[in-house]
Amino acid sequence: AKEDGRGVARFFQADMDAKVQARRELEMDLRAALVRGEFELHYQPVVAVESGEVSAFEALLRWRHPTRGMVPPDRFIPVAEQVGLIVPIGEWVLRTACREAANWPATIRVAVNLSAVQFKGGKLAAIVASALAEAGLAPRRLELEITESVLLRDSDSNLNHLNQLRALGTRISMDDFGTGYSSLSYLRSFPFDKIKIDRSFVKDVAGSQGDGAIVRAVAGLGTSLGMITTAEGVETREQLARVVADGCTEIQGYLFGRPVPAGEVQDTLERIRLM
Ligand code: C2E
Ligand code: CA
Ligand code: CA
Ligand code: CA
Repeated sequence: AKEDGRGVARFFQADMDAKVQARRELEMDLRAALVRGEFELHYQPVVAVESGEVSAFEALLRWRHPTRGMVPPDRFIPVAEQVGLIVPIGEWVLRTACREAANWPATIRVAVNLSAVQFKGGKLAAIVASALAEAGLAPRRLELEITESVLLRDSDSNLNHLNQLRALGTRISMDDFGTGYSSLSYLRSFPFDKIKIDRSFVKDVAGSQGDGAIVRAVAGLGTSLGMITTAEGVETREQLARVVADGCTEIQGYLFGRPVPAGEVQDTLERIRLM
């Protein structure tokens, strides 16, 4: 049994070493990616229910890796957050999104995802202000999406930052609503402009009575608090009909369009106008 134990320990050690090694490689690759310009933003349309037109595009980060192809964000953002690289990467995202959105019609906003790590260090508001000024983008056209992790840790200091961002004139959205532990209490701690109802509730909105009731309740709550409520991950006409009936005021999902490179934003606008 003793022998076995050592064998298992050695096995885990080797496994750990491999994991540490893979992470180090990913970290080095990420550093190089920023310098080599391997990141790009893809934009997914968000449609306003009332007008049936695009109100915004959400900027979603993509990594065009020279050998591994297009790497999705879930594969590298967690490591970028752990090693702090999300700070310079996030700054690149903000500057690029503002610059690209400045070429769109003035009625269209751009939404950028912020990591909780970007709130550390106290420079976020200055970076956002300079990204807006550099691009000549009106602050009202920038939406900043945060998840509850921003309000979970260092919440006093982060709330202070959120207020600074709001003071610049940007809009603040609560992303992935309903997936955390106490989403409702976060609605009380900050006056969000928008609630994005997580895709997991929209998925079964037509099939499960419970999910339908939740979407309806959140949409009602958001509306009575003066917030926009966006249904995420709408893929079918049936889901669209349900979330609209449930009172959501904006729709995002593959039904209206997948994220596209910046060069396809105009085409997407025209295609949705004709829908
Ligand atoms: P998110 O902010 O919740 O973004 C929505 C995700 O759902 C995107 O995945 C989008 O492509 C996907 N999606 C949209 N509509 C549908 C649909 O109808 N069906 C399905 N199955 N999926 C849909 P993506 O682009 O892979 O991004 C994943 C996550 O990575 C994002 O989730 C966000 O948390 C993070 N992320 C992306 N870009 C950035 C960034 O620039 N900075 C930070 N900090 N995080 C980012
Ligand atoms: Ca988001
Ligand atoms: Ca989301
Ligand atoms: Ca998410």
